[in-house]
Amino acid sequence: MTMTTSDFLSGERWVRCPNCAGPSLYAPANLHRPFCSERCKQADLGAWASEQFVVAADASPADPSTQSSIH
Ligand SMILES: [Zn+2]
Repeated sequence: MTMTTSDFLSGERWVRCPNCAGPSLYAPANLHRPFCSERCKQADLGAWASEQFVVAADASPADPSTQSSIH
């Protein structure tokens, strides 16, 4: 298990952040890869959560008459 400085530099790779399209270090040093920062990572997860919430709410419309008929 040898990790030299040259290996780290050769493995350095930059990608585009999916959230802000800025430069993001794609390496173990960046815990939020492929995002550039924790803020971008959280923003992307938040977008997914809100989108799924909207879909779920739209798939099950609230119908008071249906619930009252069960009684
Ligand atoms: Zn970003």
